[in-house]
Amino acid sequence: MLTTPPASTWKLPAALAAGLAGGALLGWLAGGHATAGLAIAAVAEIVLLLTRIGHGARPMMRSPPEISPLQHDRFMTRSRRLASSLRDLRSAAGNLPDAVVLLDQDQHVRWFNHAAEELLGLRRPQDRGAHLHERLGASELSDWLQEGAHEPLVDVAAPGRPNSHLSVTLLPFGRRQRLLLARDISHLTRLEQIRRDFVANVSHELRTPLTVIHGYLELLDPEDVPDLAPVLGEMRAQSKRMGQIVEDLLTLSRLETQDRLAEERVQMAPLLATIRKEAEALSQGRHRIAVESTAEADLLGSPKDLHSALSNLVSNAVRYTPSGGSIAIRWKREADGAAYSVSDTGFGIPASHLARLTERFYRVSSSRSRDSGGTGLGLSIVKHVLNLHQARLTIESVPGQGSTFTCHFGAERLLAPGGNDDA
Ligand code: ADP
Repeated sequence: MLTTPPASTWKLPAALAAGLAGGALLGWLAGGHATAGLAIAAVAEIVLLLTRIGHGARPMMRSPPEISPLQHDRFMTRSRRLASSLRDLRSAAGNLPDAVVLLDQDQHVRWFNHAAEELLGLRRPQDRGAHLHERLGASELSDWLQEGAHEPLVDVAAPGRPNSHLSVTLLPFGRRQRLLLARDISHLTRLEQIRRDFVANVSHELRTPLTVIHGYLELLDPEDVPDLAPVLGEMRAQSKRMGQIVEDLLTLSRLETQDRLAEERVQMAPLLATIRKEAEALSQGRHRIAVESTAEADLLGSPKDLHSALSNLVSNAVRYTPSGGSIAIRWKREADGAAYSVSDTGFGIPASHLARLTERFYRVSSSRSRDSGGTGLGLSIVKHVLNLHQARLTIESVPGQGSTFTCHFGAERLLAPGGNDDA
């Protein structure tokens, strides 16, 4: 009498394994980090199952029924096929180029692949069962895990590979388990650095010749060359615009390379008064401009950069609102901080453009932007300045009716006006 488990006992895990394996490999080949994640989780789970089977655990055993020699042979053939598929799967998951770590609900390491050894510095067998954040020691990655890892972490130092950078995601999986995926993005960060350096160097190199050209053009008096007066005017305007583009690119380069800005008190009452004066100078009486300030709070941050960002929104409102329109500048409290907003009754922006407005050189209408003296870099600068102050920009707009740009600052950025205490 043979007492091997009947073939039907293995059918479900076999089919499940094969299905998940196919899905997993397709998901991974498709290349999406998060999409592939759950598929990889399935592979990892199967690998764990295989490991347990390999170590003698017996899956889904019922009391052994009697089976014929023919049934036994079929069962053995299926078992061998399943074992071979699982070995392939185990090898595929183990050799993925991305680090994969399967964690239980308390963030203990259940399984990890070879890339996790290289990128995260995990060691086997001693790190199986270890607390991942304790194992990673004091690091940005460990802090992120302890804080719940709600958002993916981009551009963090790789604990196991010096001078390398990772993008890391933590995905929920199964019953309160987690799957940590880490991808080496060093080549991307290097390319990004080359791009930044190139833009900064070109802008820097252009600055001096442009200043010289602009200086000579200013020296020329149109009355001395009446025939060339319109040309001279255009040359002056264009050299000024180029100068502004170069200055904005240099500002962006500086903001991009900074992790943090000055932490000084930015007094909002005088800042709002200055912004209003600047708006009136730019508008030349063509708009009604109102300021409403009820927040009774100053800001903590970089005075120069906040001035540049907040006045940029007002300058846009003036430039994209036809004569006779209104502009309202507001500084008021909201549930978890305070908001600075600029509303206008201008051209408005179609919804399809809103998501891309803060990209460099993105314009809804190039001619309108150029005619009004724009560089296409203003909102990009605003976004960077706000990021450095942990603030965010929201945009609401109705074409033909107007727009509202709002900067939301967290409570930790607020100071009681004139005092030293938090607001
Ligand atoms: P620009 O120098 O072209 O104004 P920005 O980065 O400041 O560059 O703005 C990007 C684009 O967003 C502008 O070209 C314009 O199309 C649109 N935009 C910005 N502010 C407003 C506004 N208040 N009303 C309508 N369109 C706006």
